[in-house]
Order: sequence, then C-alpha cells, then structure tokens
Amino acid sequence: MEKLFAILIIAFIVLLLIKFGKGVGKKRWKKPDKPFSASWRKILFENILFYNNLNADEKNLFEYKVHEFLINVRITGVETEVNEYDRVLVAASAIIPIFAFPNWQYFNLNEVLLYPGLFNQEFKTSGEERSIAGMVGTGYMEGKMVLSKKALHHGFRNETDKKNTAIHEFVHLIDKADGNIDGIPSLLLEKQYAIPWIDLIKKKIDEIYDGQSDINPYGATNKTEFFAVISEYFFERPKLLKQKHPKLYNLLERIFDQKMAGKLKKSPGKEINRNDPCLCGSGEKYKRCCGKP
Ligand SMILES: [Zn+2]
Ligand SMILES: [Zn+2]
Repeated sequence: MEKLFAILIIAFIVLLLIKFGKGVGKKRWKKPDKPFSASWRKILFENILFYNNLNADEKNLFEYKVHEFLINVRITGVETEVNEYDRVLVAASAIIPIFAFPNWQYFNLNEVLLYPGLFNQEFKTSGEERSIAGMVGTGYMEGKMVLSKKALHHGFRNETDKKNTAIHEFVHLIDKADGNIDGIPSLLLEKQYAIPWIDLIKKKIDEIYDGQSDINPYGATNKTEFFAVISEYFFERPKLLKQKHPKLYNLLERIFDQKMAGKLKKSPGKEINRNDPCLCGSGEKYKRCCGKP
C-alpha cells in the first residue's frame, strides 16, 4: 500500500514537471484586444523620432508592438512614480531594435524596474559608487531589467549623442536570446557573418584603445558591451555610422534587418496642436478626434 502511494506521488510530480516545463518553453504573449490608446499615440508622436519616420502601415505595426509589449511586461517604479510617458518610452526602446522581426517576443523579460537615477551593483540608489544606468538581471533578478528613468528620458531627448541606455539594455536581451550574452546575436546573424563580425569588433575595440575612435569608449569593455554600444549609435546616428564605419554599419543592417541610414529624415516630433490633422489618420482635426477632452 505504501509503495503504491509513493508511486502515485512520484507520477503526480512528474506530470507537474512536464506541464510546468511546457508552460515555460511555450509561454506566449497575450495579444492586444483593444484599440491603441490615443494618449500613447500622442506620446509616440511627440517623442519618438523613429516612429515619426515610419509610413502609415509601419506606424500601425509599431503601435501594435508597443501595445503588446505593455500588456505583457510589467513596468514598476522603485522609489519613483511611473507614468504613461515612461511606459511608452520603455516600450518604444524595446520595439525599435526588433521592429523588423515578425513575431518577436521578449520571452526572457517579465518586468522592467525603473529607478529614479543611477544605481550601484546592489541596486542602491543612494550612497557611493552609483554609476549604472541600466542592467539586465541575472540570478535572482532573472527576467528583470533595471533602468534609470533619467537615462531613459535622456535617450529620447538627445538624438545626437549616440546614447540611448534603454535601447542598449534591450539589445543585451536580444543578444541573450540565443542563450549567451556574448555580443554575437547568433539567432540573427547568419553563420558566415559571425567570424567577420567578431574580427571587426576586435579591430574597432583596438581603435578605441588607440584613442582613434568616435565610438563610446565603454564599448571597449568587451564584445557584449561593444554590440550594445554600437547599436545605440546605429539607431541614433545611422548616417554618421555609415559614413565613419561602413563595414560595421553594413553588418548591423543585416543583424537588425533595418536600413537605418535611409530613415530618421524627419525632425523630432513637435508638440501637436489642437488644429493639426489628427494622428490617427481620420482626416479630422485633432481637437475633434483623438484630442477630445
Ligand atoms: Zn551594457
Ligand atoms: Zn483621431
């Protein structure tokens, strides 16, 4: 009798494990089932240069992906408030680098923690040695990303300094999707380009050490950081990157499947006026459509 009982318990545990294991592997993102919020669209319009340079269909796709991200990833403020502006900015940073990938989901992320400013290795926001603006969690922080709200805002306010901390951290997650954070996004880079990519990174890191580079020196830390840093450059100043580092630019175009140098022509979104045509494309004036109080 006891034996039978033990066997039953073991069988039950095995069943649970199978079920749980499957759940982890196949966890799919929920799909948006409501229309995109007009106030989120306004935030995109006024702040996201990338979005403003898309055509109408692409804008719809971008909005869908932002929406999907926001209903599947929690954004939590730590010692700071989180508003719609912050949430949309986080989502936009997530979507820009994967915009060209159909069905991409950040399955390795379930929460973004927003800190007011810089933090240290122990995620403390006060005291000495606070130099970190963003981090992808490992160990007990697995599945979480930590971001400085200040750095998040700065990334979209200054479009010329080749810096965008939030995009940097999402590129680490993309890099991680193949199992290793190593600066080589094997899921995205066809095999024959992996060796040229690694060689090129080494060369570019040497140039940074020689003081002959306009690339953020933090990129010289290692291949992983180089990939994240050069991606910030790629999405913020693509034309300049193409001019100064054409080989690097070409490989990044392959990795992200986006011809960035031809984009970002329009100037950053200005604030929308009540009498402007509505952002949703209805043809109505903004004040009579989505801008209705
Ligand atoms: Zn990094
Ligand atoms: Zn409208």
